[in-house]
Amino acid sequence: MRLLLVEDEEMLSEIVAKGLRKAGYAVDKAFDGQEALYLYEINEYDLIVLDLNLPVMDGIDVLKKIREADNSTKILILSARAKVDDRILGLDKGANDYLIKPFDFGELEARIRNLLRREFTQIPTILKTKGIVVDTKLKKAECNGNSLDLPRKEYAILEYLIMHKNEVVSSEQLIEHIWDNEFDPFSNALRYHICSLKKKLSEVSETDIIQNVRGQGYLIEED
Ligand code: CA
Repeated sequence: MRLLLVEDEEMLSEIVAKGLRKAGYAVDKAFDGQEALYLYEINEYDLIVLDLNLPVMDGIDVLKKIREADNSTKILILSARAKVDDRILGLDKGANDYLIKPFDFGELEARIRNLLRREFTQIPTILKTKGIVVDTKLKKAECNGNSLDLPRKEYAILEYLIMHKNEVVSSEQLIEHIWDNEFDPFSNALRYHICSLKKKLSEVSETDIIQNVRGQGYLIEED
């Protein structure tokens, strides 16, 4: 899952981005309202964490612009504006949630998890298919009862493919949702992680869990 963090205080931005990356998210950072809109236009985010007191363009104006363009990107306002009227305004303008600073990081993470889960309402925290069990809260996976030792990116690929089971997922889609702007488009990181993931799965499963669909992408198909 790829997030955009819009926060002008560098220290706070750094701490939050670090915590979210540790929790397994790809995170891009914007430091003012205009940069936020620019990144929003060129990338595909699953969720945006949006500060309101921002230089160049206020967070509420950023929110309005995004909502003119789409209603599906999840937006969580993270602001020091604590008045009820501010919270009502933010939610009325289309934010999905509002958290007041100072905040507890665990609560921010829980709210993000909750918003991202809403998109897949039929899917609970534990996902199961083809002998694989993925715990999206603990970020752990097992296959036929064997726990899988997966680096963050491999776990994220597996989780994404299972959330989109029975759909062919393209490489571009995986890169958009799993890597942030640090991704080098000329690297073969995606292919490398898929190979490594497939190898680990083949050690504990008889069936080919992740199929390569030539020229299109990857697929986990439920029997
Ligand atoms: Ca601010």
